[in-house]
Amino acid sequence: MKDLEVNNKRVLVRVDVNVPFNDQGEISDHSRIDATLPTIRDLQSRGAKVILMSHRGRPKGKPNPDMSLATVAKAIGERLDAEVAFVVDCVGKEAQDAITQLQPGNVLLLENLRFHAGEEAGDEDFAASLAELGDVYINDAFGTAHRAHASTAVIAKHFPNARAFGLCMQSEIDSVDQVLNSNKTPTIAIVGGAKVSSKITILKNLMPNVDHIIIGGGMAYTFVKAKGGKVGNSLVEEDYLDLARDILKTAEEQNVKIHLPIDSVNADAFSETAKTNVTAIDEIPDGFMGLDIGPKSISHFNNVLSFAKTILWNGPLGVFEMAPFAAGTQKVGESVAQSTENGAFSLVGGGDSVAAVKQFNLADRVSYVSTGGGAMLEYLEGKELPGIAAIRN
Ligand code: AMP
Repeated sequence: MKDLEVNNKRVLVRVDVNVPFNDQGEISDHSRIDATLPTIRDLQSRGAKVILMSHRGRPKGKPNPDMSLATVAKAIGERLDAEVAFVVDCVGKEAQDAITQLQPGNVLLLENLRFHAGEEAGDEDFAASLAELGDVYINDAFGTAHRAHASTAVIAKHFPNARAFGLCMQSEIDSVDQVLNSNKTPTIAIVGGAKVSSKITILKNLMPNVDHIIIGGGMAYTFVKAKGGKVGNSLVEEDYLDLARDILKTAEEQNVKIHLPIDSVNADAFSETAKTNVTAIDEIPDGFMGLDIGPKSISHFNNVLSFAKTILWNGPLGVFEMAPFAAGTQKVGESVAQSTENGAFSLVGGGDSVAAVKQFNLADRVSYVSTGGGAMLEYLEGKELPGIAAIRN
């Protein structure tokens, strides 16, 4: 983006300001706005006329006042300390007229792209109407980079010589690439979360690029059962036992060390007030389910992480949303922070691990927290994301 000439040009920027709102209709988390501010500021300072476009929620192709971006325009303005104009439709005469009024350095936000069915359908005509609004196209929306929508992918071909990643998107891509192609080793992946089925492709894709994989969360119990352990009523995906064994075998062949939990915090119900006990991971009694890694696992994982030079963390190590089962995720998160302070590069990405680092106030102590849940997962799975391909190809 820094190499593009933008002075006095209409710069169309796809951002992801799909921020969450509380019951009072106030924005409850500004992270997505903040993530894109550096891009907006850079363009402003170089004399661009900045036209922001985004989606919000799932209005299914029709205007819906509950999903308007009007309040978001105001919030962006407050954070930029500048007025952000707002247009009630993202294409057509009204948008074109408003853009004509823009002076270099001005910022404008268009109404929710998904009020038009053409956005999610990746419609060529809708993409062309959007493209008419700008001279330069910037994609700064990593969170939707895995979607082949009009504004995220289809539009790019209208700007063969004037398109680029925004600064937020660029750093998302750089940080995953830094993990996947790191020469700062050992590289350690921590993979947790509920199910093996949703992480199996990631595990396979990571294998050639990492030295160690720490497995925790609900998915660990499928591995433990696959190795012949007793896991009581823990979450197990019976259909994945063979695949789990395959992963363990491939890891051995590729010289990747897999670390499973040693012990488990178990409960007699999926509840904060359940009766609990701690046992070896492969000796969980019937009637109990493993909901967190135990203290021996924490100390083993911490030890492994203390040698890390590159860390990828995806997925919590237990049911961290409930206090009695939060320690594993919190303590391992603190180890990631500690290793980062000792010079390791750490990337936290994909859904719930991001929520966990925020809950335990670790976001500022890791190298990079990804804004893109699904997009990050697909990137880690090795897929080519349409939003990235459209800029590069
Ligand atoms: P995922 O979206 O696959 O990363 O899964 C995240 C969810 O996994 C979180 O909501 C956790 O509460 C849940 N989880 C973590 N550990 C366990 C476990 N041992 N049993 C059941 N669910 C778990």
